[in-house]
Formats: sequence, structure tokens, C-alpha cells
Amino acid sequence: MKKDARFWKEIGDKKVQCNLCSHNCKIDEGMFGICGVRKNENGKLYTIIYGSCSSMAVDPIEKKPLYHFYPGTNVFSLGTVGCNFKCKHCQNSSISAAMPDYSCLRNITPEQTIELAREQTCQGIAWTYNEPTIWHEFSFDSAKLAKKAGLYTVYVSNGYINEDPLREIYPFLDAINVDVKAFDDNFYKKVCKARLEPVLKTCEIAKELDIHLEVTYLVIPGYNDSVDELRQFCRWIVDKLDNITPVHFSRFHPDYNMTDVPATPIETLLKTYDIAKESGILYPYLGNVPIGEYENTICPNCGNICVGRCGYSVSLNGIVDGKCVKCGTIIPVVNDWHKK
Ligand code: SF4
Repeated sequence: MKKDARFWKEIGDKKVQCNLCSHNCKIDEGMFGICGVRKNENGKLYTIIYGSCSSMAVDPIEKKPLYHFYPGTNVFSLGTVGCNFKCKHCQNSSISAAMPDYSCLRNITPEQTIELAREQTCQGIAWTYNEPTIWHEFSFDSAKLAKKAGLYTVYVSNGYINEDPLREIYPFLDAINVDVKAFDDNFYKKVCKARLEPVLKTCEIAKELDIHLEVTYLVIPGYNDSVDELRQFCRWIVDKLDNITPVHFSRFHPDYNMTDVPATPIETLLKTYDIAKESGILYPYLGNVPIGEYENTICPNCGNICVGRCGYSVSLNGIVDGKCVKCGTIIPVVNDWHKK
């Protein structure tokens, strides 16, 4: 569905510059930006995907992954088409590489999004599956309504949003999971056709704005799994965010245009977990790994399991009013006991 785009300017000769994400595309008349969903028509920029929904489902919040944000709740999850990254290992290429004429799109309004979330008895809404930044006009309108309706709101993002649109949506955005794909700009350029620095900046701004932030790092053998790089990444988490930021180290599986790389060995993930702990990260997690104990939220003071997880089943028996039941240490888990 076509609608006027936000965050762009005219730059002469019917060309426009989009400033929604850090590509800041200069777009000729009749052409699309890198994401494939924002088009210059006669010197004006339009989003072509307002309300165009490719996927919707009820997911556990743990699937995003968000472990310290309303654990055990269900979130109404939506995605559209397109992406501002071109990751070789994309796990959702059927929609991220699709164009706005994709035949499986259905139209939905922000009001219907809220109604559907309520019908499905979800406690929140997540813009996920593909990059929510490029759906800004729709997710912004929907997020405003969601907050009025008492629902929480979540982005699952590559973090390439520019500061102005992030600051615009932040009063209506409760949580964000940012995928830091490597701690190396060359990786970003070669594998994702993007840059690292804007992603880090988004995380730092999200922290400053008090949006609940969790970070995911997909560990890819031979690409971003050196001890040095992992240490640098963990040091940045502790120094520039803080040691209570939950970090999800996920296991890579061969996908899309990266089928020649094997799945991450479990030993690599265990080593990564140790590096994170040694670096001072209090809440590291391992994802896509068949060893349950690395999904639990452990009290950093006494070792009690505060939030137990097994797949998507969650036990909150070890935490009361945001504190460890054994020693009273505050565990930074957002829930009804300290709503925004
Ligand atoms: S949102 Fe799309 S058009 Fe705008 S700068 Fe990013 S990639 Fe380019």
C-alpha cells in the first residue's frame, strides 16, 4: 500500500535522499532505495509497503529473543517485505529479498493490528521477521495505538535506523533486540553490504533513551568467531552499554547464500560464553543450542536460577518483584513490577 514517506529531502533534478536508515540513499526519479520498498515518484518519496503484511503469528517473547522483557508472554508478530541489508546468510530471505509486488502480501491497518493482538490475547506487538526500520510509517502509527491500548511494543532489528526516526518512535517503543552481526566493519561490508558503526550507535542511543535493549550475536565459524573479535565485542557491551545488557550468542546454521559454511560447533559457543563471562557480561545466553542451562537467567550473586527456560517454556519461580528469591539481588527483568 503506497503512502507518503517520512524522513527524506529533495536534492535537485527530481532526486531525493532518504534519511530513514544509515544508507541515506540518493534515489533517482522512478527508482527504489536499497531496501526496495521506498520509491521516488516524480520527485517525492513514498513507502510502497504501508500496511503490507507478509507474515503474522503469535510468538513467545523468548523467540525474538528477549529474555529480560515480560518473560512467558505472547507477542503478536508482524513482518513485511524488503530489507536494507543484503546478508548472505539471511534466514528470512523469502520475505527480505521480496519486492512490494510479492503475491503473499495482505493489507492491514494499524487499528486491525491492535484488534488482532487483543483477539489473540497477546500482551504486545513485535515488528520482526524482516527489518522493521523500513516499515517505519506503519510501525510508528501502529506503535502509538498499541501504547494507548496498553500493549508493549518491540522491534527486532539490524540496528541501522537513523537517530531522528529512532527518537521519533522511542516514546512508543518499549524494547528492541539488535542483531550485531560481527564486530568488524569488513564483515559488515562484505557479508551484509552495510557498516558496523551505525549499528553500535543505535544500541548506545537505545540505552540512553531507556528502551529495553537485548543484543544478539550470531557466531559464524571462520567469519566472526575469533577470540579477539569476541573479546572486543564483549568489551564494547560492558563499556558502552552496561554489564546487565542480555546478550544472546546464537548458533549459525547454513542458509541462503552461505550454505558452504558449517553450523557453529557447540565448543565454539561454550568458549564464547566463557569469554562473555570473563569480560563481565552478567547475562550471556546461548541460542539454538541443545543445552538448556545456557538459556536460564542465573542470579550473578548466588547462582540461583531466577528465570528457568526449556525451549519456550518459562518458569519464574526464582524471582519475586524483580529480585532473586534466595538472596534478594535485583535481577533486571522488565515485567509488571516495574512498568515503563
Ligand atoms: S530506508 Fe531504504 S531507501 Fe531509505 S535510506 Fe534505508 S535503504 Fe535507502
